[in-house]
Amino acid sequence: MEKNKTGSEFLHIGNRLLEWYRNNARDLPFRQTKDPYKIWICEIVFQQTRINQGLNHYNNFIKRFPDVKTLAEAEENEVLLYWKGLGYYSRAINIHKAAQQIMNDYQGIFPHEYEEILKLKGVGKYTAAAVSSICFGARMPAVDGNFYRVLSRLFADDFDISNSRAFTYFSELAALVMPENVGDFNQAMMDIGSEICKPKNPLCGECPVNEDCLAFSMQKISDYPVKTKKVKAEYLALTYYFVHRKGQFLIRQRADDFIWKKLFEFPTAIPSDMEPFITGSKTVTHKLTHKNLSIEIWNVEVTSEKQWNDFIAENQYLITDLEGSHEKSFPKPLEIYIQNALKD
Ligand code: SF4
Repeated sequence: MEKNKTGSEFLHIGNRLLEWYRNNARDLPFRQTKDPYKIWICEIVFQQTRINQGLNHYNNFIKRFPDVKTLAEAEENEVLLYWKGLGYYSRAINIHKAAQQIMNDYQGIFPHEYEEILKLKGVGKYTAAAVSSICFGARMPAVDGNFYRVLSRLFADDFDISNSRAFTYFSELAALVMPENVGDFNQAMMDIGSEICKPKNPLCGECPVNEDCLAFSMQKISDYPVKTKKVKAEYLALTYYFVHRKGQFLIRQRADDFIWKKLFEFPTAIPSDMEPFITGSKTVTHKLTHKNLSIEIWNVEVTSEKQWNDFIAENQYLITDLEGSHEKSFPKPLEIYIQNALKD
């Protein structure tokens, strides 16, 4: 399947999904309504909560707060009480504020346009697309993790879903298969993603679009979607001693190490009898890929020739000066330090 075909060539995929949805849609209370208030609440409730876990909460919430006005006029504490058990309480605070926003800015009428819905507190692109397409027929794919997974498998597309452009990319891909009834299509994708094209062990044999699925035909389903793992930046504290005397200072070359391989650096320790020569310190921060460094550099101005010579002999440091340092490579923060320390 080549993606550079025109959208209409893939419409049968969207239509097959729709047909499947009409026969297999989960019987959920919010499926019986086009009331944007209820669809909005349901989208927010089920954002981070599984349907069977959140269904009672949703029903109780709608029973107590059946419309925007009731919700807007309620005390925040009561709204939080009805949210109890769902977690992520900022969602409850946001929907309460958004209800007040609808009362104040939209005369209590839920906005119809995608762009307006997007202005409501706590509403992102996915929710705005879901509400505007389901309730008002907007041609907006409600792209979420289900879309990423189903579309990347269908097209065997290796676009990285952790990329910041993934939402736009998969929205464009969705437009290729999107039929006329986008509201139902969005719900079909939600159901297919959670019931059939599951993250693990998808039920390809029961999938209504398995004949069109490239990943399935190549038996490469586990390769999609592609997601590069975010590596958390590691914090690293380093200490250096800028040991100098009469315009000269001491350095050594780093080993083929985990950072700054083969670059030159200052001593990382001094004996206690040299501590009286310390005149101050400076801490600089520096970012490397996956590492945040905090570098403390102590200024050690050695006034004793004997101690200077002993220290060099014992540790086999190299002696250099500002001019000599230009011929060597230092990590950026040390280079800046040298320039500032010796510029006078
Ligand atoms: Fe997902 Fe399998 Fe259907 Fe492809 S055939 S869309 S992998 S369930």
